[in-house]
Amino acid sequence: MLDPIKIVLLVFTALMIVAASVFCVRMKSSRLSSIGLVSIVSLFFATLFFYYGYSDAPEIALAGGGEVTIEVFGSYKEPGYTAEFNGIDVTNEVRVSGDVDTDKTGDYTVKYTVNFLFGHAVKRRTVHVVDTKPPEIELLGGEETWMIYDPDEIDTGNFTAYDNYDGDITDKAVVSTLRNGDCITVSYLVADSSGNEAHATRTFEVGHLGIPKINLNGYSTITLRTGSAYEEQGATAADSAGRDITERIVVSGRVDTGNPGIYRITYSVTDSQNNESAVMRIVNVVSEDYARGNMVYLTFDDGPSRKNTPRILDVLKKHSVKATFFIINFSDGDSDIIRRILDEGHTVGIHGYSHRYKEIYASEEAFMKNITRLGKRVYDISGAKVKFIRFPGGSSNVVSAFNPGIMTRLTKKVLEEGYVYYDWNVESGDASVKAADKDVIVGNVINGLKPGRDNVVLMHDSKEKTTTVEALPEIIEYCRSQGYDFAPITDVTEPVIHKVKN
Ligand code: ZN
Repeated sequence: MLDPIKIVLLVFTALMIVAASVFCVRMKSSRLSSIGLVSIVSLFFATLFFYYGYSDAPEIALAGGGEVTIEVFGSYKEPGYTAEFNGIDVTNEVRVSGDVDTDKTGDYTVKYTVNFLFGHAVKRRTVHVVDTKPPEIELLGGEETWMIYDPDEIDTGNFTAYDNYDGDITDKAVVSTLRNGDCITVSYLVADSSGNEAHATRTFEVGHLGIPKINLNGYSTITLRTGSAYEEQGATAADSAGRDITERIVVSGRVDTGNPGIYRITYSVTDSQNNESAVMRIVNVVSEDYARGNMVYLTFDDGPSRKNTPRILDVLKKHSVKATFFIINFSDGDSDIIRRILDEGHTVGIHGYSHRYKEIYASEEAFMKNITRLGKRVYDISGAKVKFIRFPGGSSNVVSAFNPGIMTRLTKKVLEEGYVYYDWNVESGDASVKAADKDVIVGNVINGLKPGRDNVVLMHDSKEKTTTVEALPEIIEYCRSQGYDFAPITDVTEPVIHKVKN
């Protein structure tokens, strides 16, 4: 096809031929060969211009089009191209330039150039390296609904956001919290540098706490003589979810060990939802001469029994006498009796979960377990930790002879474990038969009492011991008439113990 430039060139070439001819004629040159040479050269160039120099430029065809999109970190493979020049395949003449960095997002230009003779062509292909993969949010610790008790304690930072291209973008996340009643939703939104977004939510449910629990360190009832030191042992506390809230305990009250009296130390705690609870420690400061001299410690073993223990408590209450109960295991239904014993100022001691000699004296371990098991039951129903124990059969028993030396070992071990054991020095005789004669019981006690010492009287409140209940008022009246005082076993009671025989 003739374009205007080619026409101009054609005309120019023709004019050159004419001009050369005219020049030769004007110079009157006879050297026609010169004219011919010039004409031939001119014609040659004219032909060249016409057919090649300003004919159609080479054509480059790009396979896959002028724009290619690939995912970052993928591989870029030249999609291919062809070039043609007036029907001639000049693909081999094409030069390709321009790099594509597939590890970096962006637009890259690949340039295709061909020069063939006077023909010249350029084409460009744009390669878009893009990131279309969204980031990932990981909620640490699982995605299920979390139970919480304090909305202020929600840890919204418990997640990570990671993008395949940007890496860790946790700090770019937008965290928002929405509360709807007891349901708190924490939403996480994060976008990578290419605008791909990820979204995640975690739900928290606000639980309602119950009453906190306070456990006293040490014993809940302490008896001190005047002048001795009171050492605050503190307490621990947990909310109903089991979380330690010991630091929230407020201790109030004071003990003046210089003045006899009953002092109450209160331990109160308020959990994060304002549930309160409080427990008390009774510190009984007694005078220097309290429970010294003519003392009677009434002790009741093998109870409680629904039949006799409440009746005994009634008698003791009526006469304002405090006593000690060395108990064995009790049914849940009899828990109230244990609480009543404690509430009325008597002492609960441990005789043993079981009273079966063959089992409890089989080993030290068996014996200690027999104590701690019952101690835990008492603690669970009353909060009282029991410190005083009495060996079934007494520490002088020989029923344990099947296990030689067990009492020698146990009488040491219980002391090492923080217990104090008491035997007796006055026998009421109510253990020997199912129901001893009331008068015999009274007589045994009266004959056993000795002035000027601690008289620890062994009695029983199991269900067969009805005559013990009947004998009790007379025993109390007799003791009072003889100038004896009554007391429960406390920290200030000197242990009355037997000689160990096994
Ligand atoms: Zn017993």
